[in-house]
Amino acid sequence: MIGTISCKTCGLKTLLGIRARLVILALILVVPLMLDRVWLLEASRAKQLNQVANELSELAKHTANAQREIISTVQAVLKSSAYIYATAAHEGRGCAILRASLRVDLPWIRSLSIVGPDGTIQCSTLPHIVGFQVGDRDYIKTALTQHEFVVSDYILSRATGLPTIIAAYPVSALDGGPQPVVVAAIDLTWMSDMLARRGGRAGVSVFLVDSRGIILAARPDQTHLIGQQIKDTSLLEAVTLREINLDREAGSIAFTAADGEREAVSFARVAGTRARMIVTMNQAAMLGDVDRDITTAYLELALVVVLTLLGAWFASERLIIRPIRIMTEMTNRFGRGDLTARTTSARLPREFVPLARAFNTMATQLAARQREMIAANDRLTVIASLDMVSGLANRRGFQSRLDFEWMRALQEGHSLSLLMIDVDHFKQFNDSYGHPEGDACLRRMGTALTAIADDHGGFAARYGGEEFGLLLPGTDAAEALRVGEIVRATVERLAIPHVTNLARVVTVSVGTATVAPVEFQRQDDLVEAADTALYAAKRRGRNTVVEHAPIRASADITSLAG
Ligand code: GH3
Ligand code: MG
Ligand code: MG
Repeated sequence: MIGTISCKTCGLKTLLGIRARLVILALILVVPLMLDRVWLLEASRAKQLNQVANELSELAKHTANAQREIISTVQAVLKSSAYIYATAAHEGRGCAILRASLRVDLPWIRSLSIVGPDGTIQCSTLPHIVGFQVGDRDYIKTALTQHEFVVSDYILSRATGLPTIIAAYPVSALDGGPQPVVVAAIDLTWMSDMLARRGGRAGVSVFLVDSRGIILAARPDQTHLIGQQIKDTSLLEAVTLREINLDREAGSIAFTAADGEREAVSFARVAGTRARMIVTMNQAAMLGDVDRDITTAYLELALVVVLTLLGAWFASERLIIRPIRIMTEMTNRFGRGDLTARTTSARLPREFVPLARAFNTMATQLAARQREMIAANDRLTVIASLDMVSGLANRRGFQSRLDFEWMRALQEGHSLSLLMIDVDHFKQFNDSYGHPEGDACLRRMGTALTAIADDHGGFAARYGGEEFGLLLPGTDAAEALRVGEIVRATVERLAIPHVTNLARVVTVSVGTATVAPVEFQRQDDLVEAADTALYAAKRRGRNTVVEHAPIRASADITSLAG
């Protein structure tokens, strides 16, 4: 189980680069703050919504109360008028007395009239409307049947032709019996003015509507709507339903209008009437500022998130990825053999400086070690090419020098001569004087040959056993023969005693060969020719120098000169 989990982690690690991981880390830090901010904003939005709904509700109640005050004053006026009329009627001068006493000093009462039991206006503050038949009006019927104060729905006055509502008070409410009805036409403009005086938010619609939803009063900018059905009749239904269901005369609802706009609606009934105050506000307009703030905040948050992500991305690029890339590049260069590769701390973040220093120290040490190794190798190569007895180059050294001189002669078109030198009867020397003495003899031979080689720009080597080779670059056959003679004579003059040798001293036989190398010619031709000449010198009785015939590319090297 543990294995599976750790393996999953491994997979995740390979999947997510260091940049992605840093970005996720940044998100983990930013997202909770972001969510907290969003939550606060949404909470503030809800609070605001609630606050505005309360304000609307208060507005509806207050305006309804204000309208109610108007209605109450009208009711009081009607009641006192009914009383005056009833008293005067006993004296048969009801109308005359009433007309004299009817004073309309309230600005919201346009006219006061007495409607007789036959439905005609018997007397009025507007004399020209006397005689009008209004008995068919609902408010007259209701007042007469219910014997109480009634406020009508919206009507167009027959008398004045103006939109109005009529308040009616039956005299019968005072002492019973079929009696006339005192009616007052209420000035809707005054009611609208009442609304205008009420402060409120911009974008808020305030309407006083009758029971059918016809607008009785509105704010000044919407007075043209007076007399019209409230725009959204379903709103009225919603309000009515709410009233019925909750048995409340005031309240608030959230309402989706026909055009799809969300509206906050508060309503309140004007007490004693069927009219209602309806206050609506477009939720979008209402929350415009808050929503704008929220949108700005969301944009800010998005910006912060994007900046955080970009910051994390670039920071990881500059502070981690790039330094690692620089170090990797350096290490690769170093691996490819560029031992001068070093990292500059100036380009790296502070945390990487110790690593860069460690790398540079390691690089310096490795470079020094490599130099030491090359020197040691060189020393080994030299040792491997040296003969310890004679102090000359050994066979390997001879061969590499021959390669070099052969190439040079080939390039420069020079001739190259080789002397093969062999100690005569050296076996017997060993036999006579012992091996150590033989070695000492070989050492003296080496010293002598080095001197001769130096004198003639040549290269001496111990070819094997008691046999030596002397390479003479740029030397022709005649000169080679002469040097051969110098070698022979020099060894003889060393006068190393050798009792069993004919000369009584150590002597050498020398074979010389010369070649002007051409392409595809074998080096072995030269060596074999010199060897053949040496063999000839031995056959001639030793302590002598024999020259091989000039070697040509296709020459028969077995034919001997001299
Ligand atoms: P020749 O005149 O025909 O060359 O006769 P030689 O005796 O010199 O020739 P041979 O090939 O018969 O013997 C060579 C001798 O050289 C045999 C060996 O003991 C001796 N020798 C070879 N290398 C060394 C060495 O490193 N030290 C000593 N002391 N003797 C050596
Ligand atoms: Mg010999
Ligand atoms: Mg020999």
